[in-house]
Amino acid sequence: MDLEINLVPLENRKEKPLSEDDLGFGDIFTDHMLMMDYKEGQGWHNARITAFADIKLSPAAMSIHYAQSIFEGLKCYRRQDGEIQLFRPRDNFMRFNRSATRLCMPELDVEYALESLKEFIRIESDWVPRSQGSSLYVRPTMMATEPHLGVRPATQYLYFVILAPVGAYYKEGFNPISILVSSEYVRAVRGGVGEVKAAGNYAASLYAAREAQEKGFTQILWLDAIERKYIEEVGTSNIFFLFEDELVTPPLGGSILSGITRLSVIDLTRKWGEFDVVERPIAIDEVMAKAKNGELKEVFGAGTAVVISPVGEISFHGETVKIGDGKTGRLAYRLFEEITAIQYGFKNDSHGWIEEI
Ligand SMILES: *Cc1c(COP(=O)(O)O)cnc(C)c1O
Repeated sequence: MDLEINLVPLENRKEKPLSEDDLGFGDIFTDHMLMMDYKEGQGWHNARITAFADIKLSPAAMSIHYAQSIFEGLKCYRRQDGEIQLFRPRDNFMRFNRSATRLCMPELDVEYALESLKEFIRIESDWVPRSQGSSLYVRPTMMATEPHLGVRPATQYLYFVILAPVGAYYKEGFNPISILVSSEYVRAVRGGVGEVKAAGNYAASLYAAREAQEKGFTQILWLDAIERKYIEEVGTSNIFFLFEDELVTPPLGGSILSGITRLSVIDLTRKWGEFDVVERPIAIDEVMAKAKNGELKEVFGAGTAVVISPVGEISFHGETVKIGDGKTGRLAYRLFEEITAIQYGFKNDSHGWIEEI
């Protein structure tokens, strides 16, 4: 593989965190980063693994001004036998390419992206934590670097991957969260860029999320931008509703991010056969009505960071409904256990989801 490797001398490597209990999320980074440059006419070149360091960027770099910036998020898990593995990484790189295409950025070769990532993680393998629920978070990123102030697609880009050991998401137990339905702000609109992992989507969501938190809610529940009626996502996770015997999630209509955890939830629940799994529009009024008449059994978010995030309370137009008995539902719990068992190698992967390193 064409990949230059410049390792930090052992004596200059960082101290690893003494305790894995307070890793948190995204403040600690490993010793190296993986980088690659792109220039129109030349393509991708100069792939390298080098010391984790600040990057030099022109103040006119187009990503800063016009947000040609995309990312991915996946995790590397340590098994009981000490080996390490990734969960569905090709799906992340294929989605990365869809994001790139939507923002007029160059695609990566998926196999090269995966092989170079595996090589990188092998070098940093001591950084993959061992405690239950912890992992090494992988953040592939692409940004426009060309210095230019006219609005058009850039001709130069930087691809990089950084790695962050992260702690267990549920340190204080797997407890349901309360969410606020946003009636004023929207996350994305069909035809826009909400279905890809474009950096600008997250900037656009901050204001509403902060307002929800100030009102005492953990997350915001987004409605569609056109009718302000149909449910889209919760925070930065996809969302599922269990109505009696039917597990329902909004269809990917162009404004919803195609989550890999979402797909895994759909596949597993279909395989188990206990519930029908349906992708269809879900009106907020249906949710509120079925919460009140008892047909709404469970609500949960699904995403890489949280895996499964049970929802215990939904507030809409000043009215708050409780879901189930306020405890984590049986299906949410089963899905969390099954997905994490596969990720951490406690269970054999019969789906082809695991990529060993
Ligand atoms: C990343 C993300 C998700 C979840 O996707 P996964 O592939 O499951 O991690 C859902 N919604 C948004 C807006 C996201 O950015």
